[in-house]
Amino acid sequence: MNEQEQNISAVVHNIRAAKRTVGTVKTTLGPMGMDKMMVDAGGNVIVTNDGATILQELDASHPAAKMVVEAANTQESMCYDGTTSTVVLAGELLGNSELLFNKGLHANVICRGYRQASRWTTEHLETLKVDAKDHLQNVAKTSITGKSLESSIEHVSALCVDAVKKAGGEFERIRVLCQPGGSLDDSSCFSGVVLHKEFILPAMPMKPNGKALLINTSLSDSKSDDNVQLSLGSAAEYQQYKRQTGRDNWVEKGQQIANMLPDGGIVFVRDTVNEVVAATLTKQNISLVHRIPESDMTALSKLLNATIAHTTEDLQEAVDCDAECKTIGDMKYVVVKGKGEVTTLILRGATKQTLDETERGFEDALGVVCLAYTTLGVVPGGGSAYLNAALHLRQRAAEAGGREQMAIDAFAEALESIPATIAENAGHDPLDTVLTLRNEHQQGNSDAGPDIENGGSCSMVEANVWEPLSLVKQAVQSASEVTISILRIDDIVVKRGE
Ligand code: ADP
Ligand code: MG
Repeated sequence: MNEQEQNISAVVHNIRAAKRTVGTVKTTLGPMGMDKMMVDAGGNVIVTNDGATILQELDASHPAAKMVVEAANTQESMCYDGTTSTVVLAGELLGNSELLFNKGLHANVICRGYRQASRWTTEHLETLKVDAKDHLQNVAKTSITGKSLESSIEHVSALCVDAVKKAGGEFERIRVLCQPGGSLDDSSCFSGVVLHKEFILPAMPMKPNGKALLINTSLSDSKSDDNVQLSLGSAAEYQQYKRQTGRDNWVEKGQQIANMLPDGGIVFVRDTVNEVVAATLTKQNISLVHRIPESDMTALSKLLNATIAHTTEDLQEAVDCDAECKTIGDMKYVVVKGKGEVTTLILRGATKQTLDETERGFEDALGVVCLAYTTLGVVPGGGSAYLNAALHLRQRAAEAGGREQMAIDAFAEALESIPATIAENAGHDPLDTVLTLRNEHQQGNSDAGPDIENGGSCSMVEANVWEPLSLVKQAVQSASEVTISILRIDDIVVKRGE
């Protein structure tokens, strides 16, 4: 084997490893994609349709396969969705480059062609852009289709849009609270932070007066005290000890807090609260929530623009707060509104396992709606945008001249694999679908995509299938970048340990 052959075989080796990873997720693409059941060494089972989740759990040991997984992670973190598309596209680009190698093209020529094609594709996608304003709910629906959320798609997609608008398009401001039990249709969306809590004592006002304090400590004896031996030398020492730890001490602490809330209000405590403190506060019309998780404390402090006190001594002035203990469905919650814009979605669903998958689907949908809301542009989905870009690339390939044209043609063919795979996973013939779609696009129907119900082609605009433009652009870029990186590797060197 000469050197050139050896290099090619390293690349081919990488390509095949990456393609194996791609094969695992390929059948999940699109609304009719199949689910995967994943079992870890401990026997835990996850059933999911989410490409990113599958890839994360997948034990991709080959370095080239890891690179593809990395590209999917980039897509997930930047665009929240479109991971399977990215991976499928990368797989096709890699597969097509193997064919080009066999025809004698050098890796660098292929990379140059792919780079040019990727640039032309993203430019062309811009021309398909439509204002997102009227399509936010369709973007949510497109992302949800095929996921477990589909059973109440109207309600869920409307909730997503509502939450995103309330949060001003900022994903970080949306909190998702999952509650097993009930049905998806019972899910709801609130302005503010929602805690799955109730007030410590039923006598506390359900709608406290509009002031709040946040305390990041426990207001009770810590558990470790139970095992401590104490030796006290005198009666005076005993008195002092009792003052510090006894009932009087807790009454005093309760009073310190109550003094800061003369007209009543609400206190949020990170840890547990002694019943004496609770009773003292109840008497003064103050409500109290305890054992609040750290993340919720932080969210509350942001929402209310409040500093969190670490002891009752360093309490600062109470902040404005509109809180209420509410029964929603069959659960009690404390709903807190403030100046900051935070939105909480309460997700209901049958079991813990389905709820996890529901949450993943929901987060994707929220993410893409945020993306559409902030970046303003959407394109028709179903792979129709990829197909239209493929047509455009073929028309321009000759401009590149030389052997690069072949790589550009190969890129166009890879783009077409997205609608083809969506159709194939829905049980239709991929080749026939692509040929029909090509014909439609040539006649100027730039939104023609796979008809997943009946096979053949249909209008994605009429089917209300839309995606954020930036998601599609990013998928093309991530896929071509990872492909180019893999093609540029001509050898794998294993580092030996010292
Ligand atoms: P990804 O991880 O890439 O988001 P999905 O399995 O979520 O993969 O599939 C997304 C693809 O399915 C997108 O191209 C989207 O436009 C397409 N799609 C969603 N709904 C439909 C539909 N009703 N008809 C055709 N394609 C659809
Ligand atoms: Mg998706």
